[in-house]
Amino acid sequence: MARLEDPGKPATAWHARSAEEVCAELETSSTVGIETGLAETRLKAHGPNTLPEPRSRSLLAVFAGQFANPLIYLLFGAATLSLVFGETGDAIVIAVVVLFNAVIGAFQEGRAQRSLAALRRLSTLSARLVRSGVEARVEARVLVPGDLVLLETGDAVPADARLIEAAGVRVSEAALTGESVPVDKATAPVAADLPLPDRVCMVYSGTLLTAGRARAVVVATGLRTELGHIATLTTSADETKTPLERRIEAFGRTVIWGAGGLFALILLLGWLQGLPMAETVLVAVSQVVGLVPEGLPVAMTIALSVGVLRMARRNVVVRRLAAVETLGATQVICTDKTGTLTRNEMTVTALVLPDGTHLEVEGIGYAPIGRVPDLPAVRPLVQAVALCNDARLLAPVESGAPWRTLGDPTEVALVTLATKAGEDVDALRAQRPRVAELPFDSARALMATAHDEDGPFVVVKGAPEAVFALCGLTAEALAHWGAHVEALAGQSLRVLAVARAEGKPLDVDTGFDGLSGALRLLGLVGQLDPPRDEVRPALDACFSAGIRPVMVTGDHRAASEAIGRALGLVRAGDVVLDGRELSALSDAELAARVETVAVFARVQPDQKLRIVRAFQARGLVVAMTGDGVNDAPALAQADVGVAMGKSGTEVAKESAKIVLTDDNFASIVAGVEEGRVVYRNLKKVVLLLVSTAVAEVLILLIALLLGHRPPFPAVQILWNNLVTEGLITVNLAMEPAEGDEMKRPPIASDEPLLTRVLLTRMALMVPAIVLSVLGWYVVRTNAGIDPTVVRTEAFTLLAICEWYNVLNCRSETASGLSASVFKNRWLVGGLVIGNLLQIAVVFWAPLNDIFHTAPIELSTVGWLALAGSPVLLVEELRKLVLGRRFS
Ligand code: ADP
Ligand code: MG
Repeated sequence: MARLEDPGKPATAWHARSAEEVCAELETSSTVGIETGLAETRLKAHGPNTLPEPRSRSLLAVFAGQFANPLIYLLFGAATLSLVFGETGDAIVIAVVVLFNAVIGAFQEGRAQRSLAALRRLSTLSARLVRSGVEARVEARVLVPGDLVLLETGDAVPADARLIEAAGVRVSEAALTGESVPVDKATAPVAADLPLPDRVCMVYSGTLLTAGRARAVVVATGLRTELGHIATLTTSADETKTPLERRIEAFGRTVIWGAGGLFALILLLGWLQGLPMAETVLVAVSQVVGLVPEGLPVAMTIALSVGVLRMARRNVVVRRLAAVETLGATQVICTDKTGTLTRNEMTVTALVLPDGTHLEVEGIGYAPIGRVPDLPAVRPLVQAVALCNDARLLAPVESGAPWRTLGDPTEVALVTLATKAGEDVDALRAQRPRVAELPFDSARALMATAHDEDGPFVVVKGAPEAVFALCGLTAEALAHWGAHVEALAGQSLRVLAVARAEGKPLDVDTGFDGLSGALRLLGLVGQLDPPRDEVRPALDACFSAGIRPVMVTGDHRAASEAIGRALGLVRAGDVVLDGRELSALSDAELAARVETVAVFARVQPDQKLRIVRAFQARGLVVAMTGDGVNDAPALAQADVGVAMGKSGTEVAKESAKIVLTDDNFASIVAGVEEGRVVYRNLKKVVLLLVSTAVAEVLILLIALLLGHRPPFPAVQILWNNLVTEGLITVNLAMEPAEGDEMKRPPIASDEPLLTRVLLTRMALMVPAIVLSVLGWYVVRTNAGIDPTVVRTEAFTLLAICEWYNVLNCRSETASGLSASVFKNRWLVGGLVIGNLLQIAVVFWAPLNDIFHTAPIELSTVGWLALAGSPVLLVEELRKLVLGRRFS
């Protein structure tokens, strides 16, 4: 139809038309979907189903952006002033230095931006669709109007679509409407003039299915979706600022005030000394520029983006930049058990039959190789677990290859069990087709299916207590079965109970409770789920890093505790609390006890939220993992919500701040480590920037007070700050981990930017630099050496002090003179370029004029290297003393 090939036409009121009309209009079918060929033409006409990436600026724009800065205006003012005073040379130098600084800045910022853009591409949305009758999972970007999409609980809606089939569908449209209460959806058309939230037969791109299952026809993609309309209107940038970033910006603003005061002070001193006004003003302007830590915001961006990239390499995808920082401050990690601490590779290893017989099942893994004892009561049990089951086990394509699995590992293991016991599972399922079902409900820990053979029957499987409760067991039977459960769970096995009801249809309205009393137990199944190899070392790292790992699981108490002990997560004095005990506690009582609990067992998803809040009430920074729709509130509440990339739903990912691509607990710990590296590196940058700026200011002020001329002309001060420093400070933000990040306690979230340790170090560094440079200047001046030469020497000495000092700043505890400096090739590069440029300024005649320098004697260079060393020596000494005290 013509209008479809013209995407520019105004949107139709799809919600006011019947599903059949919509399908006809879009030339698609509600059963087999659109034809593949038509989909391809339409994709060309409509473009991909994506929203434009938040403006990624070109390198040129980034470069231009470097000039939008009050400091640069100030410098241009200074350049104009130089022209007025007839100092054309100075004016040119200022312009060149500003330009050079902009090049460095643009280069570094461009790098940071590219890495962040690469990151956004890591998380792409997929969609399940039917085209020409074939079902497939595809990237959401290829969707076109007319595509038939299938949605289930936890999915993100990939495009605007008209519902054709909706079973219990509830959609959270908060992203679109701001309304957090999910909306119930239906398929019947509604009035054309209804506002968006009332168009219940539509689902919109960017919203989330919190319940139900649906089939829908895509009506709009990309920018033509409702989300696209909003996205073109708003691009909020402030949201991406992290708390630390805001703190650093505030710090920068304070410094600007200080710089204003300094400006006035230098003018005053210059006037008192009777210096030429032009010179004083230029020196004052340059010194102000030197004091302001303009490198800090860039360093922040770079440190965060480098952190994000390093995390991505360790299977942690960061969705909110602030999480990088919060991860570093994490004090408690609440983690799932199955799949996160364990491999989620289940094998049934034990059975308990109704008469109390314990049986062992041979073989490990999904390959159905191993013997199951052949007793009469085994058959009904294995048949039941094969029927109440959505998983499939497929024979290897070639001999020697592993068996292929589809579905939940818990259920695959049950198919393996049945196959080991000699059942042909596919044949069994065909023979006793499923007529109704209650899908696995994680809050109840139960699943039920109804089948028909010669009359209806229902099979239920689930957590033992939940199944026992439906079986109406006598107190005696309950004690008997309970003891068996404890015995299996005590061996770290995950236990399922299985029961069956005869001649009973499954009533979806009354749910599981409708089965109450009608069920007969067929037995227990114990599954082994070995822990992941990486978890033990990761737990050790947690403990030495002062982080408390806590298991929060839906699994049975005894099994969870046994695994927790085996892993070393549960230690002497730790408590296990189960969901029932938890619900008996008030929030205050829970908060009072929470720090002693190592395992929360049989927890329902909504209780996770209480656990997070309890830790937070103790003032702790909490990370919490989750995968299901019900986990979303806890993930959003946690300081770091951690969603599972493999097994998690879109809803969980949407609420989380980080996503683990391998679902592995060890990856969270890796993320914490990288977060700590980021924070540390920033402090290194702060230390270097602040200590050198303060030292320079003091050199100038003291020199003036002692009645000297300013030791450095304005151009040298600018050179020093924008080139020498510019080449090394930001590069500190790329320092690799020092290795002891996880041997220290977490960083307090309210720690000031300049901590005591940092101030102490500055108190050593600043006097060392001031004494070196000023001492040299005074001694050489008094010796009657040519002033230009003395200035050049002092100027070079200052650069040398900074190079020593950047080595100091690399570590708080380790020597600056270690070979590990070569691991940061950016810093090494900056040092090499800085040295070459300094040599050029000092020894190359054309630059001598411009920078008011004169070649110095080669023998003096050696003495300068020595004269600059005190700043390195004091720090080395401090590290030595402290190092001894700590070991
Ligand atoms: P975990 O925290 O270990 O991931 P789950 O919420 O996945 O816990 O499962 C909790 C309990 O629910 C399990 O111990 C098991 O008894 C039961 N269960 C898990 N999966 C199924 C299933 N597919 N069918 C029936 N019961 C299940
Ligand atoms: Mg689970």
